[in-house]
Amino acid sequence: MSIPTPKYAIGATVYAANTRQSPSFEPCPDCLGTKVWHSVLASGEELDFSCPTCREGYQGSSGRLRYTRVEGYVEELTIGSVRFDTASEYPVKYMCVETGVGSGRVYEEHRLQATLEEAQALLPKMVADYTAALEKRRAFNRSSRIKENAGSMAAHYRAKIRQCKREIESCERGLAREAQKKEVR
Ligand SMILES: [Zn+2]
Repeated sequence: MSIPTPKYAIGATVYAANTRQSPSFEPCPDCLGTKVWHSVLASGEELDFSCPTCREGYQGSSGRLRYTRVEGYVEELTIGSVRFDTASEYPVKYMCVETGVGSGRVYEEHRLQATLEEAQALLPKMVADYTAALEKRRAFNRSSRIKENAGSMAAHYRAKIRQCKREIESCERGLAREAQKKEVR
């Protein structure tokens, strides 16, 4: 196999389209920031419990969700070295002055553009694709979290209510017995 001709020479300025993540917050989509789910059971009973979607451990529901925002940006780079790997799907790779030559980041040729405009033109699709992938993972995590939590939480509180009702009844019986004793005296 012949050695391919590199598109960029040592010292050339090139542009790499990139994405990065930055942490961000948005109102909780399930409680709309109210931190509470109001539920009506089949029995007609109504109850409020703290929103499981935005609950963070023992801190309770915060009314907001952390999410990862994707930003696109373009790096301006100077070609520092050229590498060939004829066994690779992308046989020509570069290392750049700004990110380290010898040790540092390696850029496949198709990831580098000759002009800023060409690199910028790639950003919307890259951001959209990455955002879609993150959203998909996030939606899956959210739905499994709700399924796990919501039912078990409602059941937990209903059990607590039943227990409290039994305690009230028992206290009321105690009170009634005391009242009877007094009458007997
Ligand atoms: Zn919430």
